[in-house]
Amino acid sequence: MNKLRKTIAFVLLCIILTLSTCACNTNYIQQEKDKLANYSLGLSYDHVNHVVSAVQTVEFRNDTTNTLDSLHFHIYANAYRQDASHLIVSQNYVQSCYAYGQSYGEIAFDSVKVNDVAIAYQIGGTDCDILIVPLSSTLYPDESVTVEMVYQVSLANVKHRLGWGENTVNLGNFFPILCAMDQTGAWIDTPYYIYGDPFVSEMANFDVTLAVPSNFVVASTGTVLSASTTDEITTYTIEADVVRDFAIVTSPDFKVLSQTENGIAVKYYYFDDAEPSKALAFATTSLKYFSDNIAPYPYDTYSVVQADFCFGGMEYPMLSVISSETSAPVETVVHETIHQWFYNLVGSDQIENPWQDEGLVEFLTQLYLDQCGETPLKESMRKYLKNYTTYVNVLTDYLGKLDTTMRASYKFDTEQGYVYMTYVKGALMFNSIYDACGKEKFFACLKRYFDDCKLSIATPDEMRASFSSSYGADIAGFFDSYINGQNQLVPLKD
Ligand SMILES: [Zn+2]
Repeated sequence: MNKLRKTIAFVLLCIILTLSTCACNTNYIQQEKDKLANYSLGLSYDHVNHVVSAVQTVEFRNDTTNTLDSLHFHIYANAYRQDASHLIVSQNYVQSCYAYGQSYGEIAFDSVKVNDVAIAYQIGGTDCDILIVPLSSTLYPDESVTVEMVYQVSLANVKHRLGWGENTVNLGNFFPILCAMDQTGAWIDTPYYIYGDPFVSEMANFDVTLAVPSNFVVASTGTVLSASTTDEITTYTIEADVVRDFAIVTSPDFKVLSQTENGIAVKYYYFDDAEPSKALAFATTSLKYFSDNIAPYPYDTYSVVQADFCFGGMEYPMLSVISSETSAPVETVVHETIHQWFYNLVGSDQIENPWQDEGLVEFLTQLYLDQCGETPLKESMRKYLKNYTTYVNVLTDYLGKLDTTMRASYKFDTEQGYVYMTYVKGALMFNSIYDACGKEKFFACLKRYFDDCKLSIATPDEMRASFSSSYGADIAGFFDSYINGQNQLVPLKD
């Protein structure tokens, strides 16, 4: 071959190698797909009455080693009932969440069928928030069953994960989703606890059709495959494979800004933002940074959506919700983007061990803001440490003693306690590991954790083991000193 032909051949080889490397990096998604539950959701939204009507089927294969006589689904929509025993927000957020006045919502079932046969389902759980579907015959390991349910979700007029507001309709945690199982094979049928994100779910595949008035713009998990309009109703067909949940935010007022980076369409939906390009830029650059440093973002779309929402933000697979009222929009965009890795791709029990994703994500947010020249990491960690020690000292003086363990979300008496021990102390814990091993080794630990635990619900032991094996020494005790509350935090080195 002459020099030109050799050069062309070399370039082609490089392209093929690059493409095959990219494909290999995300092959695990396709390999996992066939093992997961398949959800099919036929949804239509009545914007006058604020009701979602749904026909849902779930194909479930028993991949446990146990026999099953029933399936359990969370029905979080019932947390918005008038007589719910768990409040959806603490006193701090009542005014902003219920800005339009008190309002309620719920889910009502027309029918539930198992393999096409109607069955007598039960609404159970500790707060009428678990749908129990008895199976007509015992489901043995590797056997499959199909459940069909027809229901309506009426939305409360609240600025919450699920509800309608002045600008947006938020459909987060709105459909019956299979409970995950704990290590003993028992369903995790926890209620809608007030603090934190009270959700644990397994990866699944979603095929969704959503009918909304044609003037509504839709932001959601997944990729829109088609849209067709009849009689001023537009029906979207959306697909999402290997994701932990499916959420939608829709509004007639959305404007959309988008950019494609590395083949991923990054979109920002907003109704009130003087600098929309800033949110889009932070979403795009942080997605690239963590793709480069941990593992490639494996989906073709990522959407960030501004919403009527009383908290700062909320993570869903392929979709981050950002409050239109947050004082730190850029930080929130980065935080929720990092959750794509640590919440969605690597799951954890957000109720029992909320520090596992929130502490890590909070630290990585500050690390990213340092790397992109916004705020030096040492400065933000000093602030975190100062806030933490002030909180601990004041509360200890006032109460005589203070529980500084990093514990389950339902074991906190106050939201402030939950935030300090989960986010602030959690970030300080990961910062200490970062300080001890440096950036390169820290990201090697994260990559190992990702590789070992991707697509699963990682336990704290698994996280400690991944970090220890990558670090080259057993650092489980280091984690434990923070988690057990023994570590008296000291000022950081310069
Ligand atoms: Zn978070």
